[in-house]
Amino acid sequence: MSNTPLDCLIVGAGPAGLTAATYLARFRRHVLLADAGASRARWIPASHNCPGFPFGVGGNELLARFRLQAQAYGVPEVHTRITQLARHADGFTASDGERHWQARTVILATGVIDRVPALEDIDEAIAAGTVRLCAVCDAYEARDEVIGVLAPAQAAIGHAAFLRTFSRQVCALASDGDAADPALRRRASDAGVQLWPAPQRLALVDGACQVYFADGRRLRLDTLYPALGAEVQSGLASALGATLDAEGAVVVDDHLQTSVPGLHAIGDVVSSLNQISVAVGHAAIAATTVHRRLPRNYC
Ligand SMILES: Cc1cc2nc3c(=O)[nH]c(=O)nc-3n(C[C@H](O)[C@H](O)[C@H](O)COP(=O)(O)OP(=O)(O)OC[C@H]3O[C@@H](n4cnc5c(N)ncnc54)[C@H](O)[C@@H]3O)c2cc1C
Repeated sequence: MSNTPLDCLIVGAGPAGLTAATYLARFRRHVLLADAGASRARWIPASHNCPGFPFGVGGNELLARFRLQAQAYGVPEVHTRITQLARHADGFTASDGERHWQARTVILATGVIDRVPALEDIDEAIAAGTVRLCAVCDAYEARDEVIGVLAPAQAAIGHAAFLRTFSRQVCALASDGDAADPALRRRASDAGVQLWPAPQRLALVDGACQVYFADGRRLRLDTLYPALGAEVQSGLASALGATLDAEGAVVVDDHLQTSVPGLHAIGDVVSSLNQISVAVGHAAIAATTVHRRLPRNYC
């Protein structure tokens, strides 16, 4: 363990963490990135709403560009999972179980882990755009297709109604099997959405999502949006007593500081719109706040 504490330890190297690292390095701060290597962005086949990329950009290419920019300012990165974070009078001690790091401040950019349905070849289905995980991101690309939403009935109908902007053929698949309820059927019908029961099996067939039901019916979807929620990676924050919301997302103030002084949280781990541009905006605000609140680093 080095005796000189880091100005800031950034946990997570997705778009949020990598951007915060670049900002802080350009403020001539002593930072370290610790990353477990599972950014959601790696799953993006091509993003078409990412500012500055009019012809789209793949998630891995985008991450490589963010990382190159941080590396250009000398940001060091360790590939590891931080498992413990403790607070003391001078800041924080982080550990991955073997090594320890001291830091005056910490930025958590640990994201979320999507809950995905049991579908063989899920990686292939996401890469092909047959399974999509973010309607705000890419419903435009699914326009005029046969779209399904898999979620508990109430949520499935709500998401399906959102998708009616993009297609006339939207099916809500009630993962809780609640498709017979007359009130739900009315709600679905009012929204112009077909309500189906829980699928028995899902399979990727000829680039489409084939849905099999217990009563023998089948449904072919061009695109399936599972809306099954996500595991917010907020364990380090909650262990320090930081306030979380009902979904487990970290609650922050306007400067992206948590309820624990010196601990910031940015990107998907914070309750907001889970988007790259939001993650990057959070990073800019948090990094600038961290820099301003640390003692001046005159040259
Ligand atoms: C299929 C798909 C398509 C998408 N398309 C778009 C799109 O077109 N446009 C758009 O704006 N957004 C899109 N998104 C959303 C976008 O990917 C996320 O909003 C973005 O990646 C969030 O960035 P982040 O840095 O907060 O988290 P992430 O990118 O998820 O990065 C979090 C990082 O933290 C690491 N980590 C977690 N815990 C620890 C720990 N304890 N120690 C060390 N490291 C840790 C993880 O391994 C990961 O590398 C899409 C998402 C998916 C899944």
